[in-house]
Amino acid sequence: MKVFISADIEGTAGITNWDEARKGHPEYAEFREYMTDELVAACEGARAAGATEIVVKDAHSTARNLILSKLPDYVRIVRGWSGHPDAMMFGIDESFDAALYTGYHNKAGTDTNPLAHTLTGTVSRMFLNGEIASEYTLNAHCAARYGVPSVFLSGDAGMCGEAKALVADIATVATSQGFGPATSSLSPQGSMKAIRETVEAALSRDLSTCLPKLADSFELVVEFTTPIEAFKGSWYPGIEHPAPRTLRFRANDFFDIQRAIRFVV
Ligand SMILES: [Zn+2]
Repeated sequence: MKVFISADIEGTAGITNWDEARKGHPEYAEFREYMTDELVAACEGARAAGATEIVVKDAHSTARNLILSKLPDYVRIVRGWSGHPDAMMFGIDESFDAALYTGYHNKAGTDTNPLAHTLTGTVSRMFLNGEIASEYTLNAHCAARYGVPSVFLSGDAGMCGEAKALVADIATVATSQGFGPATSSLSPQGSMKAIRETVEAALSRDLSTCLPKLADSFELVVEFTTPIEAFKGSWYPGIEHPAPRTLRFRANDFFDIQRAIRFVV
């Protein structure tokens, strides 16, 4: 069994402030360790369920966060940003049996995580076929393009709930809950234990029910926080600029949606 894991940091148990997610800030060192510990717990759960190959995409900010010396010997790690539209999922292909997500956070504008956002701080809301999308929404669609089911997610409780809206059978571990700028969360040890056990169970069942069916056509609407960003993106071929802060793009192939996001966000 081949497993792909996309690892972010803003849904890690305990994380509460942007200082804890920013490389170069003194508080970051502690939280990159928790991010790594949760990812390793997911790897251990996958291994226990029979995974023979695990590819991990470091998917936060610089994409150089995970502490490599902590990774098990059966893990391959993808670091940095290639520029490929698969972005947070770069490295996945048709040969994988399952996609997992650790440290994931809810989308911009939600109140379930003080660090909620969508891709960058410039996006106010992103709609996919009329529904407000999160990074997970985009990434689960990306996995589905390759026929890979989305089987497990850990992150804030709000993100876990929304993940089930797209993939009803996805297994989740709610690491934290946001209250304005504050959080209530599992301890790092408690989170690691829950992730290890839940991933093992999640991969020890029929995975096919976790493959979302892709729509026949897609409409992407990106609402930026300022008109400046929308103007800059409005030169992308085929994109519409229906309002000062809004861009709209339509495509039948989800990869074309990913490519538009790659260049305008
Ligand atoms: Zn991140």
